[in-house]
Amino acid sequence: MSVKRGVSVGGSVTSTSLEVTRSPFDIGVQQLERAAAAMDLDPNVLEILRRPQRVLSVYFPVRMDSGSVRVFHGIRSQYNNALGPYKGGVRYHPDVTVEEVMALSMWMTWKSAIAGLPYGGGKGGVVVNPKALSRGELERLSRGYFSAIAEVVGPHRDIPAPDVYTDSQVMAWFMDEYSKISGHNVFGVVTGKPLIVGGSLGRDTATARGLSLVVGEAMKKLGFDLGTASVAVQGYGNAGSYSHMFLERMGATVVAVSDSKGGILSNDGLKYSDVSAHKRKTGSVRDFSGCDNITNRELLELDVDVLVPAALENQITGKNAGRIGARLVAEAANGPTTPEADDILGGRGVEVIPDVLANAGGVTTSYLEWVQNLQSYYWTASEVDARLRDVMTAAFDWVWWSKEENEVDLRTGAYIYAIMWVAEAMKVRGWV
Ligand code: GLU
Repeated sequence: MSVKRGVSVGGSVTSTSLEVTRSPFDIGVQQLERAAAAMDLDPNVLEILRRPQRVLSVYFPVRMDSGSVRVFHGIRSQYNNALGPYKGGVRYHPDVTVEEVMALSMWMTWKSAIAGLPYGGGKGGVVVNPKALSRGELERLSRGYFSAIAEVVGPHRDIPAPDVYTDSQVMAWFMDEYSKISGHNVFGVVTGKPLIVGGSLGRDTATARGLSLVVGEAMKKLGFDLGTASVAVQGYGNAGSYSHMFLERMGATVVAVSDSKGGILSNDGLKYSDVSAHKRKTGSVRDFSGCDNITNRELLELDVDVLVPAALENQITGKNAGRIGARLVAEAANGPTTPEADDILGGRGVEVIPDVLANAGGVTTSYLEWVQNLQSYYWTASEVDARLRDVMTAAFDWVWWSKEENEVDLRTGAYIYAIMWVAEAMKVRGWV
């Protein structure tokens, strides 16, 4: 943890104007300690859960279109496999760090446990701006990364999936590279693949589908009607854009959306089909006719019923939590809210559906894809959707129960519930 005076690096602000900058991993550990204290966790269990079991850094060469070779940094963090093989996505982003990937792998551990999946938690990343690569460079980068981490992954060891700026095409290259190394097709080594090579129906929209289901459940508990609710969505990648689609289908009015270039606002509501077509055409949601352009910061502070942060970490901090206008925050992104912000939001009566529950639909459908790969028997869209619905509603009910039982906020309730399962598995396995 580093403390800087007068330098703004996206951390939280205290009343003395000291700015505290912490890595996502420090934040993850703080959340873990908070839950551990609330549940009186065995200190030996906490000692194990404070750090990943393995973090692999690889530096691998990629031939660029110019003919020159560039060396990229790739990471795979394997946090905990007490409940099953490590599971979690791979992100391509210029700001990826080892500490960020470690945090994301910790969050995957809780997420898998909350959804009741037979998985542990893992995460990967490559430090790269994929938007600056040609398709050929992206393919060579993806194959290079996967072959560099091949010895630690596998369908019963560690199963990667998409995350920020990776998609089903990247997963197809991962699977193909691993299959070549293995000498036979290994569809189950990666999830989020295209349908034609072992993907599952419903995987592309699963994160948002899961989010819309838990938002529906939370609205019932809070006594709000989703049919008259207004929504703002920050981020228009896979999770954000499909959240727009599902929440609109459930009757909500999405009044604002944004992407990395900025956002748009229309009090009359934004139609998913129009905005997504505009983004496909222009590369951004900005400058959509009949709307005001707004900044990402302004979007977060709008006076709406539901705010869906669906971009990156550290968006709602001690700095802006006092100005969040929403009554319910549903975290489609991983780690968008800092612990300081959680306290401020809690004090103001804003309910936060934490990432480890709100976006668990993605990994849940990854699990369904993996099961289909292992059995080589494929389900219909409605079978997949029904299974996802069952998992998400049960996960929501358990987390809500844990919050009430332990008299804590939803995030801490979710952590307590997850840690209980992971700790139990570690105990019977004889780790503690
Ligand atoms: N990257 C997604 C997440 O953060 C999905 C992970 C997976 O499907 O394994 O939950």
